[in-house]
Amino acid sequence: MLELRDIHVSYGHVPALRGVSLTVEKGEIVALIGANGAGKSTTLRAIQGIMAPLKGNIYWNGEDITNLAPHKVVGKGIAHCPEGRQIFPSMTVMENLKMGAIAIPNADQDKETLEYVLSLFPRLEERKAQMAGSLSGGEQQMLAIGRALMASPKLLMLDEPSMGLAPLLVESIFEMIKDINVKGISVLLVEQNAYMALETSTRGYVIENGEITLSGRSVELIHHTHVQEAYLGI
Ligand code: ATP
Repeated sequence: MLELRDIHVSYGHVPALRGVSLTVEKGEIVALIGANGAGKSTTLRAIQGIMAPLKGNIYWNGEDITNLAPHKVVGKGIAHCPEGRQIFPSMTVMENLKMGAIAIPNADQDKETLEYVLSLFPRLEERKAQMAGSLSGGEQQMLAIGRALMASPKLLMLDEPSMGLAPLLVESIFEMIKDINVKGISVLLVEQNAYMALETSTRGYVIENGEITLSGRSVELIHHTHVQEAYLGI
């Protein structure tokens, strides 16, 4: 479904990705774990068309989408929920949700997706007229995920969805990710919470200094000595 082949990305002269290759198949939850600055967010930015790779290709259902404009990538069925949520604080919850569908033709007629998002996050339904900036951290994270879902993606890319949330909320966000996946949406999950990410996913990749250093089934990665020592604190 999604394939990155030997992706290189730099910020100026500083390399951030050095030959990243990975795949996400239909129906999978794939975790990308790594330390601060390892290149996780940059990988998602390259897929979304925000960072142009210097080398390598990105394929979506066999089509080369490397260097496609971000709104066109959304139109292909890939939505990105960025790190730090990046909601529009002075717009209402409903206005924020509608922004998520802006790149999709005739999205205003798509009542089903809005109903699905509001059923997944009843808290957003209750607060739909409230300014997004006044929501709690957990609610803002739900709004950011809901906004990405408004584009009716086939693949949802989540960047650190658990960041800054209380443990109970972290659990419920990961439960929601499973619910979203059950609906047939594949997920590429970037996380520093390696344990929860590997518990939730089918496969995983470890990225270190811009390179994939380990990959495999999540149940196996969770027992890997290096993963345990470097990311699980065991
Ligand atoms: P974190 O969890 O801290 O966000 P990450 O794994 O997502 O880490 P990236 O944000 O992808 O890491 O960063 C990869 C490398 O690129 C780091 O060395 C970082 O300092 C650098 N980098 C990221 N964004 C920029 C930028 N806008 N300008 C310059 N360098 C950047």
